[in-house]
Amino acid sequence: MAQPIKIKLDTSKYKAPADDEIAAAKRFINLREEYAGVLGERIDEVLRDGAARIVEICYRYDVDPKLLYFSSAFNADMMGEIADVMDDIEQTILNLIYEYSTRVTDDRDKMSALAAWTALLGKGGRNLRDTLDGYLYKTMKDWEAAIAALRYAGRTAADATTRVMTHLHSIYTIPEVTAAFKRAEEFATYIRSRGVQYGAVGISNNGSTNVVNMGKITLQLAWRHQQQEDFNEEGAEGYVVLRGSGYDCDQCDENANRFHPITDLDGWPPLHSHCCCVAVPVHNAASAASIL
Ligand SMILES: [Zn+2]
Repeated sequence: MAQPIKIKLDTSKYKAPADDEIAAAKRFINLREEYAGVLGERIDEVLRDGAARIVEICYRYDVDPKLLYFSSAFNADMMGEIADVMDDIEQTILNLIYEYSTRVTDDRDKMSALAAWTALLGKGGRNLRDTLDGYLYKTMKDWEAAIAALRYAGRTAADATTRVMTHLHSIYTIPEVTAAFKRAEEFATYIRSRGVQYGAVGISNNGSTNVVNMGKITLQLAWRHQQQEDFNEEGAEGYVVLRGSGYDCDQCDENANRFHPITDLDGWPPLHSHCCCVAVPVHNAASAASIL
């Protein structure tokens, strides 16, 4: 049995959420996390498949690994093929993000409105596609470094493919890549910049990891947006936040187990990545009575 939850709520004004409302709100988060997990796995598949295609292209062009450089100025034909793969990866991942972000509802009109809202999400004033494009560019440079290092080390195409695919989220721990970093000045590639320069606070230095995280966060924001729309539509006065997990988190504890007016968008979970807090709609006491 669940522990009884003490919620700070003025019951002269508001009706305490019913058990079935709490259960529905928890199901919403469970479903969101399930879809976020599936989205992450599917993005991984697209990236693994794309990495394999790019390894194949680079081995087929058979350029000196020390000179390998993903630029049309270096080799326009090879780069044309790589750019096609990258475009394909971008469109497929974008479609997946929209697909899972809009699964929060089965109402066609709401889905298209939500897709339009989601398209504008992005980092640093950029939209969703441009943000994804930036992370994919970094991912491509990670692969460039790995392929140069693996070819330099004399690995076969099949071996290189396996290594890049299995180290999708840890390119810079592949021993051949680490070794190549030690001779960085000999290479024309991304290795020269050591590949890790893009790492910043809260951002992984691995492109693939950022692509997957970005997809999951977009989904969570889209689901939250739809929940806000739905709570408004059903005439909720506000919401209460319940903790969805047991770990200590000051930010979540601060917001949990109390009433928030419907206009309080800052307290609406998720409050941070991996936040599984639950928002339960709260109605005013009078309207709740009249519904009954
Ligand atoms: Zn939380």
